[in-house]
Amino acid sequence: MVIVTKPDATPDQIDKIVKRVEGVGLKAQISTGEQRTVIGVIGDKTLLGDMPIGSMSGVEKTMPITAPYKLASRQFREEPTIIAVNGTKIGGRKLAVMAGPCAVESTEQIVTIAKYVKNAGATFIRGGAFKPRTGPYSFQGFGLEALKMLATAKQETGLGIVTEVMTPSEVEIVGEHTDIFQLGTRNMTNFYLLREVGRTKKPVILKRGLASTIEEWLLAAEYILSEGNPDVILCERGIRTFETHTRNTLDLNAVPAVHELSHLPIVVDPSHGTGIRSLVSDMTKASVASGADGLLLEVHHDPDHSMTGDGAQSLFPEQFEKLMQDIKPIAIAVGREI
Ligand code: PEP
Ligand code: MN
Repeated sequence: MVIVTKPDATPDQIDKIVKRVEGVGLKAQISTGEQRTVIGVIGDKTLLGDMPIGSMSGVEKTMPITAPYKLASRQFREEPTIIAVNGTKIGGRKLAVMAGPCAVESTEQIVTIAKYVKNAGATFIRGGAFKPRTGPYSFQGFGLEALKMLATAKQETGLGIVTEVMTPSEVEIVGEHTDIFQLGTRNMTNFYLLREVGRTKKPVILKRGLASTIEEWLLAAEYILSEGNPDVILCERGIRTFETHTRNTLDLNAVPAVHELSHLPIVVDPSHGTGIRSLVSDMTKASVASGADGLLLEVHHDPDHSMTGDGAQSLFPEQFEKLMQDIKPIAIAVGREI
């Protein structure tokens, strides 16, 4: 259920409503919009009994939320969520571009790529320190050392950092270095991890599970939101279908669908969505046209020597630079900018 306050509700009235909700053991999540404050009531609402919340001062109306995800739903918040991080905004008119290698391989590698992508217009450097590999014998990432290398790349370029966290026990250390946590496709249903990042104050990119429906994905986002972290960015990165030519099937239906269902921003990762370098640029253009709030792209200056298998889907810096120019008119055509 949500409690919608009147446009002129005072902080004191809002406080009393929150206390009333919390007093019966429910959680109250406050979302402050331009016009009014909305209070999400989380938990078993029968605990409210016949308490007359609707007639409290400052309350305009109460509404049930029919979607199984509550805080993530458009019913809870009509306006899009805009996330301010490292001097940029994600979810507003300007597209967020996060680019970099699959994995951080050395200070030289990450600084070189960070400089390339920064010059081309990216606002975040991405790179895995802890890599969720399909097989246990594959390169697993340089861990803490790689986090320090990312910090150097940030110092040198000013770019914000996006890097993956795989386990609840590493949330603290990764959080000390990163600006945005990435939760990978294989961890979309790691509920302990979802809750743990939900207790932090850093934005979270939540990649869609490789065989998850949009509803399951929004429910995963709900785990993070319900712990008090409002800054979730969804990332469509392709799902598994019967098609084997591409690594995954990039489900661009998800972009407008998520915008209808949720107020959360959604970015697209055409690198993992296709797995094939020659397809990445076209699918990036399609992602922008579909209304994505941003892009997550793999870029490597020497992809043939990439330490993960993702060199084959990484753009060369020159390709990335051209792509950043090519998407400008598309962004403008859909009311956005780069
Ligand atoms: C990645 O971003 O390098 C990655 C491992 O992505 P995904 O979780 O989408 O496979
Ligand atoms: Mn990768």
